[in-house]
Amino acid sequence: MYIPCVEIDLKKIEYNTKQLVNLCSNNGIEVMGITKGVCGQVDVAKAIIKGGVKKLGESRIQNIRALKHSGIDIPIYLIRIPMLSEVVDVVRWADGSLNSEIKVIKGLSESARSFGKDHRVILMVDVGDLREGVLPEHVIETVDEIIDLPGIEFEGIGTNLGCYGGIMASYKNMKLLVNLAKDIEREYGFEVKTLSGGNSSTISLLERGQLPSGINQFRIGEGILLGNEPSVSRPLPGTHQDAIILKTEAIEVKTKPSYPIGEIGHDAFGNIPAFEDKGPMRRAIVALGKQDCQIEDLSPMDTTIQILGASSDHLLLDVTQSCNTEVGTIIEFNLSYGALLGLMTSRYVAKYTI
Ligand SMILES: *Cc1c(COP(=O)(O)O)cnc(C)c1O
Repeated sequence: MYIPCVEIDLKKIEYNTKQLVNLCSNNGIEVMGITKGVCGQVDVAKAIIKGGVKKLGESRIQNIRALKHSGIDIPIYLIRIPMLSEVVDVVRWADGSLNSEIKVIKGLSESARSFGKDHRVILMVDVGDLREGVLPEHVIETVDEIIDLPGIEFEGIGTNLGCYGGIMASYKNMKLLVNLAKDIEREYGFEVKTLSGGNSSTISLLERGQLPSGINQFRIGEGILLGNEPSVSRPLPGTHQDAIILKTEAIEVKTKPSYPIGEIGHDAFGNIPAFEDKGPMRRAIVALGKQDCQIEDLSPMDTTIQILGASSDHLLLDVTQSCNTEVGTIIEFNLSYGALLGLMTSRYVAKYTI
């Protein structure tokens, strides 16, 4: 085993997926399983499919290509609105995509025509988080342009919340989406098939019984991978929070002062660090650093261990209470989303599935 490594328990991923698919399907909602948190890792995607999802979503086209190459045959959607420069690959590899720019959708249409296939489009509506999406007042005019495009199947509308503006899903902003779908149906007389109401952070609304009827799809990543509901940062009931963990190795363990000796200037990242003098402290260095992930998003599974800080390749821990820690000891961490993204992307961190 190469260390540091991310260890992914596929059974737990499958279990988490089942739990969330059950919760959602009991309420008439399909789950699109989002794989971007694990860079589209194929075995994880297959565990998510085993857990019952019928559609996958991924933010990077390279990952979608790899998933398709692996033989996965359920529909995969590109969930980051496409670049104009990638429309050919988007049509080639993805079955559908989330979109907000008519210029791009026209590009998708041209590619779809040249491939002789149909590409599904979910039009994103910005209901307040100020990331992607057309504003509600521009939905009808945009749909008007989309429905005439050859090779494009207008599948529905969606919205994303919580990721940029931190705006939480509410009855009000979800109802806005439902009403827009009704407006479209009234205007054109066809059914808006998909109302994609958000991500892991919309689950709370469903549990509180405040999700307006009509929303029929959730795009869920973090909830499946980490069993976490991001908007309130709480474990999702009935899910595992340790389906994915990090293993690191201690490379130095020594008792040293807790206050640095000498004049304090800027650290490697341009900050002037502050320290509290706690007297002598048993300190461990593990071989991992800010180059690999956002350190604040790690938490030691041994709760007697505290994170002191990190530089690019060294993570410092207070192991005063953890007597067993010595050089060579494997120290494990739970992850939150930011850490997961960094670790999965770092080529210095191995990835294992169990
Ligand atoms: C990342 C993302 C999701 C999944 O969000 P989670 O919080 O991981 O569930 C859903 N939709 C879009 C558009 C995303 O970018």
